[in-house]
Parts: sequence; structure tokens; C-alpha cells
Amino acid sequence: RVVNFSAGPSAMPLEVLMRAQSELVDTNHAGMSVMEMSHRSKAFEDILENTKHLLKKVMNIPENYKILFLQGGASLQFSMIPLNLLQKDHEAAYIITGSWSQKALKEAKKVGQTTVIATSEETQFRNIPDFSQITQFEKLSYVHITGNNTIEGTRFTELPKTDAPIINDWSSGILSEEINVSDYGVIYAGAQKNLGPSGVTVVIIREDLIGHAPDHLPTMLDYKTHEKSDSLYNTPPTFGIYMIGLMLEWIDSLGGVKEIEKRNREKASLLYETIDQSNLFYSPVKKEDRSLMNIPFKTDSEETDKAFIEFAASKQLVELKGHRSVGGMRASMYNAMPIEHVERLCDAMREFEAKIK
Ligand code: PLP
Repeated sequence: RVVNFSAGPSAMPLEVLMRAQSELVDTNHAGMSVMEMSHRSKAFEDILENTKHLLKKVMNIPENYKILFLQGGASLQFSMIPLNLLQKDHEAAYIITGSWSQKALKEAKKVGQTTVIATSEETQFRNIPDFSQITQFEKLSYVHITGNNTIEGTRFTELPKTDAPIINDWSSGILSEEINVSDYGVIYAGAQKNLGPSGVTVVIIREDLIGHAPDHLPTMLDYKTHEKSDSLYNTPPTFGIYMIGLMLEWIDSLGGVKEIEKRNREKASLLYETIDQSNLFYSPVKKEDRSLMNIPFKTDSEETDKAFIEFAASKQLVELKGHRSVGGMRASMYNAMPIEHVERLCDAMREFEAKIK
């Protein structure tokens, strides 16, 4: 297997893939694959309950939060959030930190009044902007942030001080570091980075925020529908829910998110140190705001970037091309990536730098 630095879908732990393989034709002794189980069967109900139970455990989710497994990706949440939560005569506030928050804002604008309380667009999103001006805004239904910016490589280390519920697009940060769930109204994440295969979206929502959607909202877009039916209103992404369960068991067996965060900090420090010590590579991101998961880096020539990406690929280090809006390289190092893989990247960077001198 190659070392996969993809931003998502991304590398999975080998142990988890092997376990899924070994259970593929007969899952949990049901005499059938999880793919063949009715979503109304006891066998699948047990899988769903186990996945929810483990997510609650590893994220320490309080009792007054509901866990929903939905479809449509994090991108559908860009619409479902305002459709369910944006009240009449109120505004939805957005902190704009990159392409994904811009997309979230674009959808909210179609639904109602929005306001941008801070943006780092003027620095090409190299930092998290100052959001202390939030106190100037009244009648906010919620404040939306993108907790980790997959493309730009930044992350929030502090939250806005507000009475409005904070909504966190935590697609590329979920389970990577400890957070206090009760600081948020809603946390949502597409699964395909730290949770499992694409096709399932996890929504963790405070109970009191459910049930306020307007009557004309289509049934499938109303959080209440999915809460009432325990994510079984229609056929859910059953295989994805099962795989999330296996990923959570793996995290739990390693010592939970606390241990995972420790490993992620070690991995990220190793790569940032290599970048900062290099005379060839640099990080475009402000130090205090650097992501633990997605690390963009560059040289000052596109040709050299390209040559490095090819050099790395010859050493089985793949998917290092940066997003087209940022250029250069990007190493995404989600929970599944062991530190040895990051060491191999750092070695390749040093070797390349020495070679082209
Ligand atoms: N938000 C963030 C922060 C992302 O990184 C992504 C995808 O990479 C999305 C939203 C979109 O997710 P999806 O493809 O599940 O709709």
C-alpha cells in the first residue's frame, strides 16, 4: 500500500480495513453481510446503537444532544442549517475562513438574512480572523464556523463569545482533538476523513434546536424527521454507519481522542518543523492558526513544486498536490496516518532539497 496524503476520502487504518474485510460476508454472526441487512432488522439496529454509543463515549457527548446519520454530505448541511435554524427577523452570522465557509454562506443567503462577522479573505485565508466584533451583532440565530479549513490549512483554537448557538463544520477536524461538545449548537461532518467511507454525514445537534423548521420545509430536510425516527426515516447509509462503528472501536482501543490528539500533535509538529527548518519549503499559514490535519506547503516555484510531487510519488508518497486555489503541496494527515508515514515525507523533503541545491 502507498502512503496516502489525500484530503478526503483519505487513508483508513489498515486494522479497520482488515477487520471489515474479515466480516464482510458474515457480519456480527448474522449469517449475512452488513450490506445485505434490512435497516429495520435487529442485527442492523444493534450496529446503529453501537456506533452511536461509541461516538457518545469518545466525544463525551452530553445527554441533551442527538446524533443523526444523514446523507448529502457536509454540503447539504450548508442548506439544512439555515433551513432549520434561521429564524424570521434574525440573521445568521458567518466567519469566513476559506472556500468551505464561503460555500456554506452562499447557501444560507438563499434562505434568509446573513451577516459576515469576520473574514480572512484579504490575506487569502492564511489566518483565522479576529472575531471579537461579534458583540456588535444582535438577533443572531446562530454563528457558523469552519473549525478546520481543509484547503487552507487553518484551524480555530478559540471560539466566538456569543449567546447564539455556534455551528461547527468539523468535517476535517472531528475526532482529531478533544473539544467540548456543549460549546456548540450543532457539529457536523462528512465521514470521509476521520470517520469512515463517504456517503454518510454525522450531525450532533442540541435537542432544543430541533423542531423549529417551517411547515413548508420538505420532510427529508427537517432534522425533526431524522431525530424522531432515529436516522431510520428512510434507508440510511448502512455500510457507512457500520464502518464508523469500526473506526470508533479502533480509536477507543488506542485510548480515545485524548491519545489521538497527542499523536496528531506529534505528527503535525514533525512536519511543521521540517518545513520551518527548510530553505526551500515554506508554510503559507500563520503559525498560531495552523491545522493539525491539513498542512499546505510550497516552494517559490511552481515547477519545483511539481518536481517535488513527482519525486515524492516515486517513493510511494501520493496525493500531495495542493488544492488548485492554494497551489503547492498539501499533506493531509488524518487519524489513520502513523507517524512513520510523516517521517517518510520529511525524509523525502530533505533528500529533495539536498538534491536540487
Ligand atoms: N466542509 C469541509 C471543511 C470539507 O473539507 C468538505 C470536503 O472536503 C466539505 C465541507 C464538503 O463535504 P462533502 O463532500 O461531504 O459535501
